[in-house]
Amino acid sequence: MKRAALIGDPVAHSLSPVMHNAAFAAIGIDATYELWPTSLAELPGRVRSIDPRGILGVNVTVPHKQAVMPLCDDLSETARRIGAVNTLILNDGWITGDNTDAYGFTRTLHTVRAGSFDENALILGAGGAARAVAVALVEAGAPAVTIVNRTRSRADALVETLRDAGVAGIGALDWDALPRSVGDVGVFVNATSIGWHGDEMPVERHVIDVLNPECVVIDLTYRDTALLRTVRERGLIATDGLPMLIHQGARALELWTGRQPPVDVMTRAVLDEQARRAA
Ligand code: NDP
Repeated sequence: MKRAALIGDPVAHSLSPVMHNAAFAAIGIDATYELWPTSLAELPGRVRSIDPRGILGVNVTVPHKQAVMPLCDDLSETARRIGAVNTLILNDGWITGDNTDAYGFTRTLHTVRAGSFDENALILGAGGAARAVAVALVEAGAPAVTIVNRTRSRADALVETLRDAGVAGIGALDWDALPRSVGDVGVFVNATSIGWHGDEMPVERHVIDVLNPECVVIDLTYRDTALLRTVRERGLIATDGLPMLIHQGARALELWTGRQPPVDVMTRAVLDEQARRAA
């Protein structure tokens, strides 16, 4: 039996084992998905210890998506553009760092915006997830992507590194500019870590009130957040981050195995696990 694993800190609450183990069983792959909690100090040793004879593939999550990059033998073009790695692909001991988060986001975008896409977008947040989302939106066809972050300097730094990586059409604005900046955006993304607890909201209600009625809202949090409830009350189309989670995992599975991922099975497994945890 082979093993796959998630490297991060913390990883205990990850849905990835349930999602991937269901997929392995459904497509007849003799493998099990494990959690490898790993501190930053342990990361180089952890990556060096990956034995391709026993390991099918590895995912990497917070806070190591950037720290793992120099530990890879090479990087995919996508990982290079995004500036982060969430998937390690093993070929005869050679480790390629790839990134499937942008793919997961693009698939999510298409669930709420079918067909061709040419709308301006605004991303709240400038962390690792925002990087992948910005690249996905530009590649999907957004003429302009604006990053708005609590810490403005972090938004500016993100814009600069993406420009250096050849990703055009990205800019940053002050948080205070939000109410007058959201009126013409077609996609509004919450990529902050606000939304996991109770009714916390990443923005104030008056910002939601000035969103264009045609705007779609994507909250990367994978629960029914106050943001999602509020925008749906206004009649806007909105989705949480669960499809992104599932599709990034499905793409990783495809890269590791060359097999068609059983997305329906993976979705069912994740929804069942969420229901079990909520009970
Ligand atoms: P990071 O820690 O890298 O970034 C967190 C971001 O949230 C920063 O921009 C930070 O701003 C902002 N933030 C934190 N607290 C506040 C606050 N009180 N008010 C305003 N902004 C705040 O996290 P990630 O980018 O990795 O993840 C962001 C979110 O996306 C998380 O909820 C994560 O679970 C989710 N995610 C979902 C995925 C999916 O598949 N659905 C995939 C990856 C992530 P500042 O710079 O000012 O600190």
